[in-house]
Amino acid sequence: MPAERPAVFFDRDGTLIHEVHYCSNPSQVRAVEGAVEALVKLSNAGFALVIVTNQSGIGRGYFTQDDYHRVHEEVLWQLQPAVITATYYDESTPDQPSPRRKPSTAMLEEASREHGLDLTRSWMVGDKTSDVECGKNAGLRTVLVETGHGKDHLDCGANAVVPDIGYAAEFILQEAVCPK
Ligand SMILES: [Mg+2]
Repeated sequence: MPAERPAVFFDRDGTLIHEVHYCSNPSQVRAVEGAVEALVKLSNAGFALVIVTNQSGIGRGYFTQDDYHRVHEEVLWQLQPAVITATYYDESTPDQPSPRRKPSTAMLEEASREHGLDLTRSWMVGDKTSDVECGKNAGLRTVLVETGHGKDHLDCGANAVVPDIGYAAEFILQEAVCPK
């Protein structure tokens, strides 16, 4: 069995793509500037790239699973040539959360099992406290980006708070080479 790889887990909305209120249509998808370059750098450094996203809009009935998948295809298209290893999503709502919904670690553990990921060397990048808590709950190091809702979550206790995903990649690569 090959050695386990470290991963960088990414929230989607407000982190990889610009935040829109319940993104339900591919025409609303716009990658954050610098996201592609950041992902390529992390991939070249040996990190698996995994998206973990809460999509309560499905559970609320705002859009369908099919809508979600059409949006997802557009996200993957816009993030090329970076290759996303896997994507996990949860459709439950905050008032009726499933055991998978972030800040639960379930989606990270699922990814770890299915793709041979070493969580102890992995990172979580997101724009909300729930993303950072999810990462911390799984023993990951965490980065909060100030895009999306980030500026409302500055006191979330992340290892780093940075302007956007490009800076997040730089921070992770620096820490990976020279860990504290
Ligand atoms: Mg988000």
